[in-house]
Amino acid sequence: MTMQKEMFGSLELDKKIVAAITYMGFEEPSPIQAATIPLVLEGNDVIGQAQTGTGKTAAFGIPIVQAIENYKQISALIMTPTRELAIQVAEEIGNIGRNRRIKALPVYGGQPIDRQIRALKSGVQIVIGTPGRLIDHINRGTIRLDHIKFLVLDEADEMLDMGFVDDIEEIMKSLPSERQTLLFSATMPRPILSLTKKYMKAPKNVTITKEELTVPLIEQCYYETKDKVEGLCRLLDTEVDGKLIIFCRTKKGVDDLSIALSSRGYISEGLHGDLSQTQRDRVMKKFREGACDILIATDVAARGIDIDNITHVINFDIPQDPESYVHRIGRTGRAGNTGVAMTFITPREFRQLKLIERIAHTKIQRRQLPTGADVLERQRDQIINKLQTVLEINQYQDYKSITESLLDDYSAEDIAAAAIKLMQEGPKALQVQAEDEPIAMDLQNTGAKPGMVRMFVNVGRAQRITVKDIISAIAIEADIPARSIGMINIYDKFTFVEVPEEYAEKVLGVMHKNTIRGYKVNIEPAKQRR
Ligand code: ADP
Ligand code: MG
Repeated sequence: MTMQKEMFGSLELDKKIVAAITYMGFEEPSPIQAATIPLVLEGNDVIGQAQTGTGKTAAFGIPIVQAIENYKQISALIMTPTRELAIQVAEEIGNIGRNRRIKALPVYGGQPIDRQIRALKSGVQIVIGTPGRLIDHINRGTIRLDHIKFLVLDEADEMLDMGFVDDIEEIMKSLPSERQTLLFSATMPRPILSLTKKYMKAPKNVTITKEELTVPLIEQCYYETKDKVEGLCRLLDTEVDGKLIIFCRTKKGVDDLSIALSSRGYISEGLHGDLSQTQRDRVMKKFREGACDILIATDVAARGIDIDNITHVINFDIPQDPESYVHRIGRTGRAGNTGVAMTFITPREFRQLKLIERIAHTKIQRRQLPTGADVLERQRDQIINKLQTVLEINQYQDYKSITESLLDDYSAEDIAAAAIKLMQEGPKALQVQAEDEPIAMDLQNTGAKPGMVRMFVNVGRAQRITVKDIISAIAIEADIPARSIGMINIYDKFTFVEVPEEYAEKVLGVMHKNTIRGYKVNIEPAKQRR
């Protein structure tokens, strides 16, 4: 069978595959793909080691799809640690193989086996499954191993951790010896190495080391709040304007935020993996040309988009790892422009933020969100302006009878103020709202001595906590001088402790959800004044 070839970066691949992956948004092979694909196509066994998110699925998926010739039998078996991963891998390979009409079927425990058996009979070339369910099918004879040309162990270290090692060996033993074995893992613990020695033939090693993290020199800050949507809107109403990208963790997050913003009158466009190429292009065009200033995206969807003069990157959801933080914020501050990266965290995400700071060697400044009063102050002139215009145009007579009927019970000032509130806040104005507390932690008014911050810790005498426990926990965990810790007051159920201002955030970050004498603690800036 002759196959028309086409270049994908440095790789020469089946034209149909290049078309499929281009449609998937791939522009060039990732490093692990560039290194692995030729080796697999030449017939080698390969051990691939690279971090998550580096494109390992396509690194084995592309050459396997290209190598399949016989559509009547199962040619490749892929083992994954979980059902979610099996489904994901099957989807990705299905997409890669779309134009070659390759069928990839996920099989996993928890789904009725009859359904899987029927699907298997309908003709699939690649099966992706969790080890247990694969063995089940092999024992029933519903998956035959005679024609297997490829075995892939995906996330081998995960599978090991989940105790699948015997299952994996059982499958490896019963496969035809004329086959290629590919093993992918983020780490290479000893039991995996011994598997590779026993069952792989002169494997080639491909190791992609992490790229050096270089944080762009831009302003970085974070806001801690339980109400991120409200916090975001306050920023949008005050200091944030220009072109911005807001990152969410999931597609659903993108949709939800886009809806929440539009219900509050902000126009945004969402970008995620479910959009077709045409939809993506349309969104990007609007954003690039300035018809819309707010783009909401997932990490994956934002990959490969390249736009200059983005003024703000907002991490609505904190990125899952330091790499992705650096990638995200690298989208602003390009070409010598200034940029700001803002990250929202909920109280529980404090440690994740500190981890990002540590690994990416960067400092993310804590900031207070604007208060409702700040927002109003900013908008004051605008509101007055708008109202003056309406008054001058003088076409509001239809509404006057409403004012008049209200004047019996309310003053003109109150009616006007209420109408402005309704105009500004929409339906929110119809509900009773909680007092406008600052929604971030306040390190200033903790009732401590000048230069210190007083912390509240939710353990005390009842847990037999002593002054020594507090000092050693904080000094050791947060790595600050024990001498610098100030006054400590231990009560029955809680403790107050003062730490120097300069260490306050570090202490909060490190001690949050940490333990003191085995007790899981909550620590926060104290609220009362002395
Ligand atoms: P890993 O298995 O290494 O964690 P995945 O194979 O799950 O990584 O890939 C992560 C994401 O990157 C997927 O959404 C995938 O579609 C995408 N991806 C993979 N290769 C490329 C590429 N060459 N260009 C653009 N995106 C890619
Ligand atoms: Mg993977």
